[in-house]
Amino acid sequence: MTSTAIKQKGQTISADELKALNKRFEAASPQEILRWVDTYFGNRSAQMSSFGLEDVALTDMYWRITPKVRVMTLETGRLPTETYTLMDQIKLRYDIEIEAFYPKYDAVDNMVQEHGFNLFYKSIDNRKLCCGVRKVEPLNRALNTLDAWVTGLRRDQGMARGMIQIIEWDDAHNNYKVNPLANWSFDQVEKYVKANSVPYNELHDRGYPSIGCAPCTRAIKPGEDLRAGRWWWESDPKAKECGLHVVQKADGTHAAVRASKSSTNG
Ligand code: SF4
Repeated sequence: MTSTAIKQKGQTISADELKALNKRFEAASPQEILRWVDTYFGNRSAQMSSFGLEDVALTDMYWRITPKVRVMTLETGRLPTETYTLMDQIKLRYDIEIEAFYPKYDAVDNMVQEHGFNLFYKSIDNRKLCCGVRKVEPLNRALNTLDAWVTGLRRDQGMARGMIQIIEWDDAHNNYKVNPLANWSFDQVEKYVKANSVPYNELHDRGYPSIGCAPCTRAIKPGEDLRAGRWWWESDPKAKECGLHVVQKADGTHAAVRASKSSTNG
C-alpha cells in the first residue's frame, strides 16, 4: 500500500498487513519505524509529546529523519515551569513549531466555577473530570487532524503497556498509533538522550521519573514505586490513569494504560 492510499482518514491497513508490519518492526530500530511512519503517513502523522525522557529522545530521532517533524502537545495550563522551559529549548534546538492543544475555555471555566481550581484533590471523579477537560478532549481534537500518532510508550512500563503493539489501530481515536520505543528499556532511552545531548526536563534530575501537570506530580523517594509521584494522594493504583491511552486487548476489549515511568502526559 502506498501513501496515496491513505488520503482518506480511516483504517486502511488490513489486519494481515498490520501483523506483518509488527513482525518486521519487532526487530527494527526506532529510527527504522519512524522512517516508515514518515514515508507512509507524511505530515498526516505527528508525535504527541509531553516532553518526558522518551519523548525528547523520539523528537531527536524523528528530526534527524525529517526536519519537518510535527510535534504536538497537550498544553493543560497546569504544567510545571520546567516543562515550559524545555519546550522553548526544544523549539530552538530543532527549529520546529510545537503544536499546542489547549483545553476549551468554557469547559475549564465551568469546571472551575463548579468545583474549584484544585478540584482534583477532592475526589477521583473530580480528577478524572479535570483530565478529561484538560487532556482527553484536546487529545481527541488533535488526533482528529491526523492519520497516525507517535508515542513514547514502552512495554516494560508494565500493566497494560506490556500489551502494546509497535503499530496498532487505535479504535478509540480512529487513528494509527505507533510506539517506536515499545521494545526499549528506560536505560536505553537515558543513554540515547545523554549520547546525543538531547535537552531534557531538569525535573528528572530532581527525582521525577514521570512528569505531568505540576499539581499532580511530585518527586519520589528512593525505593518508591515509579508511579508514586503521580496523583500521589489517590490510594487506588488502578485509578491512576487519565484516559489518553487505551490498549485493545486480544479479546477485543479495551484496557486503559496507567500513567507510569513515562514521557506521555498521562
Ligand atoms: S494531571 Fe491534574 S491538573 Fe493535569 S489534567 Fe489531570 S487532574 Fe488536571
